[in-house]
Formats: sequence, structure tokens, C-alpha cells
Amino acid sequence: MHHVIIGNSIAGVEAALTIRKRDERARITVISSESAHPFARTAMMYVFCGQLRQQDTEFVERGTWERLRVSAVHDRVVRVDASGHRVFLEAGDPIQYDRLLLAVGSVARRLPYLAAYEGEGVHHYVTLGDHERLDRAARSGMRVAVIGGGLIGVEAAEVLHLRGLRTHWLVREAWTWPVALDRGEAAMVEAHVAHHGVDVRTGFPVEGFERKGGAVALSSGSEWLEVDLVVGAIGVVPNTAFLASSGVELGKEGSVQTRDNLASVSAPDVFAAGDCACVTWADGSRRPETLWYTGRDQGRAAGAAMLGDEVRYRRGTWTNSAKFFDLEYTTAGYVPIAEATRRAPTPGRWQTWFQRLPDEPATLRIVVKDERVVGFNALGRRWSTDVWLRWIQERRALPWVLEHLRESTFDEEFTPRFPVLPTATLEEGA
Ligand SMILES: Cc1cc2nc3c(=O)[nH]c(=O)nc-3n(C[C@H](O)[C@H](O)[C@H](O)COP(=O)(O)OP(=O)(O)OC[C@H]3O[C@@H](n4cnc5c(N)ncnc54)[C@H](O)[C@@H]3O)c2cc1C
Repeated sequence: MHHVIIGNSIAGVEAALTIRKRDERARITVISSESAHPFARTAMMYVFCGQLRQQDTEFVERGTWERLRVSAVHDRVVRVDASGHRVFLEAGDPIQYDRLLLAVGSVARRLPYLAAYEGEGVHHYVTLGDHERLDRAARSGMRVAVIGGGLIGVEAAEVLHLRGLRTHWLVREAWTWPVALDRGEAAMVEAHVAHHGVDVRTGFPVEGFERKGGAVALSSGSEWLEVDLVVGAIGVVPNTAFLASSGVELGKEGSVQTRDNLASVSAPDVFAAGDCACVTWADGSRRPETLWYTGRDQGRAAGAAMLGDEVRYRRGTWTNSAKFFDLEYTTAGYVPIAEATRRAPTPGRWQTWFQRLPDEPATLRIVVKDERVVGFNALGRRWSTDVWLRWIQERRALPWVLEHLRESTFDEEFTPRFPVLPTATLEEGA
């Protein structure tokens, strides 16, 4: 059986490892256009600002593919013929498969009004190619505007600032990363990023654009800002344009429609995993999950399904962590931000416990539904998401969680206790 995997990032790698672990004799081919060897996209920005070297981001030991008899092909797939079970490469000969995994990830969502200026001062930060182009263009002292208030936006603003560029972070919404942070939490992030020297402008929808010689002028309608470079960070879309006439059904924005076992709904023997796969979320909605660890889990599930196992992929409880300069962010469970998403939480009694420490930039928000803790959002301190996930699973009540909070400190020995103060609030609603 020949398993062909397009994509050598987290989803593709985990699928290949899963297949090899279970089937000594399977023929496995992993194709990647981006890099010959797998690297962690999550760490790419730290290469940009000089904190890591590219080889530090490799998450698969060199020699692994040879040892596991996986054939690694560094080439671009330009077309898939699902009915003929073949993939066509830009440079190499077509490859015949028995089972095919699409683990082709994402590309940056383009800024519609700036599309014509791609490569002329307008950049993105998702692929290695994006990284290399920006790396060549960015010089210390230049003025740069990062457009987009999400995670990639804040990280891009941080590393451009660390590279010595005069950085403006433009956020259309009233506050940054509104799907993950409430107004108060976002204010803390914004103050922290501004304190490091980034010009943070919320409520700045970029509506106009003009070229002025080598510079770019951006308008919010009421204000103009002139910069040398623009970095668009308004999200990602599945990297599936090359599948247009392949026989594989694509959904909203090009994600591959999958069944519960990650088999594509339309093409026999074709599976999808990672950022490009449209999957079912805990709330029943269907869209891609664009996280590193869900890519890992989906890759494992798809690998098992390709071997013929009965598989039902469902994401476990949500968790994520990040750092804005040196400000920690940790989340676990269900933390609805109804105000930002305009979506009412599901029926039930919702309560929100919140505390901000008076002497350091640190907050903790705990969401309670029907007397059980269902979610945590924290800034400033590091917490153990494993412990939080366990408590959510054990359906712990808020008083119990507050009493045991110390047990979820990430590094209990070295971190002072997060005190529960009388200033903490408990409000109805989420
Ligand atoms: C800057 C940045 C920071 C991030 N930080 C975090 C974070 O802190 N935490 C987190 O959970 N997630 C983070 N993410 C998201 C995370 O990186 C992705 O969810 C994850 O990389 C998706 O993995 P994947 O295997 O689906 O595909 P990708 O990592 O996107 O890789 C796609 C693979 O497909 C290959 N490919 C694509 N098209 C073709 C083709 N036509 N022919 C051949 N090969 C092809 C590429 O070569 C590549 O190997 C970040 C993303 C970015 C861009």
C-alpha cells in the first residue's frame, strides 16, 4: 500500500509516523514544497528576530525519514487527479497513490485593497517564503505597519520591533484579539506592547491606501499613516488552490470537506488533516482548526484512518498559550467572549470570576457554567493547562478550584502564589 502525504509539517509528519509505527511494510512518501526538512512554523518568527536559527526549529531529527524508510520529496504538487489516484509535481514525475493525505496547511488571507502591491512593500507572515521575503526587505529604522489584531499580528509586531523597525500595530476592532481576550485583558496586552515601544492603534480600520514614492500611506478614514513596509496579518485560508479541478470537494474559503474519520467527503482514498481540513468543533460548527496541537492530533487520526482503523476525530477541550513580549497568556476550556463575537453563550447559568493583581500585570478569569468551572483565561503568569483541563473534566466547582489554584501554577517552586483577593469579582454572564 502506497501512502502519499502532501505536507511535511505537523499534520503530515504525525500521519507518517503513525503509519510507520503500525505498518512496517507500507510504502510512505512525504512531499513538501516549502522546505526539505520539517520545521515548526510556530517558532519561525523567532528566527526572524535572531533569537533562534532555522535549524533550531526542526522538530524531526535529521535522518529520521531514512531510518523509517519514508521517501521525502522536495517538490510542489501542482495537481491531484483523485479519480486516477495520481499527484502531479512541478519538477518530478507523477506519483501514484493508494491513499493520499492532504496536509497542506494555510496561506495568509490577502488584504484585498493591497493585493496589487504584493512584493512591493506589502508582506505577510505565514509561510517560509513570506518569512524569507520579509527578512530580505526589513531593515532597522524602517517604518512598518502590521495590520491585524490577532495572534500573528501581535507576534509580527513584536519581532519587527525587536529587529529595530519602527513598528505600528493597527487593529480594526476596539480592542486587540477580541475572539480570545475581553476588553480589560486586551488593554493589558496593548499597554504591555506599547510599553516595549510599539505604536498600538486600536479602532484603526485600514480603508485607504496610497503609494508615495517608496513609501505606503494607509488611511483609517480619519487618519493617515506613512510607512515603508506593510505586514498583513488578518488570518489564514486553506492552501488548496491547486486542488480546484481535482475532484476533491472544497468548502468555505477552500477547506477540504471531511467526514468524522478525516476522509474527504468526495474523493475515495483521499484524507485531510491540519489547517486545510474542515472539521466539526465542540459546538457543532464546521471549519478548520488552525493550531499546532490540533494539527498533531488530526495527523495521528488521519494516519490511523488511512490504515483502515475506525476513527472519529473530535477535538478535546481547547487549550492554548502564547507570549506577548514577556507577558504570558494561557487559556483552557470554554471562554466565550460574547461581547466580541456577538454570539450568545449556550443556555444555562453562566458566571465569570475575575481578578487582576494590584502590583503586577497579571489577571485570571474563570468561567463557570451551571456551578461547574468550564474555562480559564490568564495573562501575566504561567499556568499548567494539564491541571486546568483535568479540573474541567472533573467538573470542579469554583470554590474548590480557588482553594486548589496553587496546584495549577506552572512552576510552583519558583512562582509566588496567585492570591485570591477580596477585590475579585463574580458576575452573572460569560
Ligand atoms: C507565524 C505563526 C505563528 C503561529 N503560532 C502558533 C502558536 O503559537 N500556537 C499554535 O497552536 N499554532 C500556531 N500557529 C498555527 C500553526 O503553525 C498551524 O496550525 C500549523 O502549522 C498547521 O500545520 P499543518 O501541518 O496543517 O500545515 P502547515 O504547517 O501549514 O504546513 C503545510 C505543509 O504543506 C506543504 N505544502 C503545501 N502546499 C503544497 C503543495 N502544493 N505541494 C507540496 N507541498 C505543499 C508545505 O510545504 C508544508 O510542509 C502559528 C502560525 C503562524 C503562521
